[in-house]
Amino acid sequence: MKSVLKLNNINSFYGKIQVLKKVSIEVFEGEIIALIGANGAGKTTTLMSISGIVPAGSGEILFMGKPVHSMSPDKIVSLGISQVPEGRHIFPYLTVMENLDIGAFLRTDRTGIKKDMDYIFDLFPILAERQHQAGGTLSGGEQQMLAISRALMARPRLLLLDEPSLGLAPLVVKRIFEIIKKINYRNNTTILLVEQNVNQALKVANRGYVMENGCITLVDSAKNLLSNKEVKKAYLGLY
Ligand code: ATP
Repeated sequence: MKSVLKLNNINSFYGKIQVLKKVSIEVFEGEIIALIGANGAGKTTTLMSISGIVPAGSGEILFMGKPVHSMSPDKIVSLGISQVPEGRHIFPYLTVMENLDIGAFLRTDRTGIKKDMDYIFDLFPILAERQHQAGGTLSGGEQQMLAISRALMARPRLLLLDEPSLGLAPLVVKRIFEIIKKINYRNNTTILLVEQNVNQALKVANRGYVMENGCITLVDSAKNLLSNKEVKKAYLGLY
């Protein structure tokens, strides 16, 4: 299997405080990987380090075999890594269409952009219906769909999703996880997923990494993690 992303002993800091401690993660082409852990464990910081927003203090990050840990965030996006941040952060006063255009700002292939827009409207018919509506007037679930779609407009090989189900109603959560599977399957987009909804995340993922206090403490197939005693107790509320 081809390695898409490889983190080797990443140490990341906020000022003098070390948040990530020797984090090593590998993601292979076509996989969905769940990164799980308690609040404050360092999951978001891991995604931010991959995107270049919180540059790694030391260690290396390879994307398709190429070192990216010293690159700027826009360069990293242009290589094929897109992040959907926690809390969505869509532009509330811009229309759905304008939000999507922003996702494609590094691209110049007009025909490809049009094709991807059609693909997104097929994936999320509600966004097609609301394309002239301001982003801020959409429901929480629709805004999450828009945030994912905006990231897809950069045509990523690797999609980083930070808590896509946060604050959404159960039915919408179900739909979001279906969409994640569909994006992975239809486009062969590799996905690194950070989720508090550990049960759902491990159900769609191939493998999972457990993070505690800035360290990776467990790596296994999603199936094994779902039946792992410690995972069940700490993250699934099962005894
Ligand atoms: P959550 O699920 O709550 O988002 P997380 O696992 O994603 O948690 P991070 O957001 O990566 O965890 O936070 C890891 C640690 O870094 C926490 O102790 C947090 O307080 C700290 N931290 C996060 N962002 C900053 C920042 N901008 N400045 C200083 N410390 C930060």
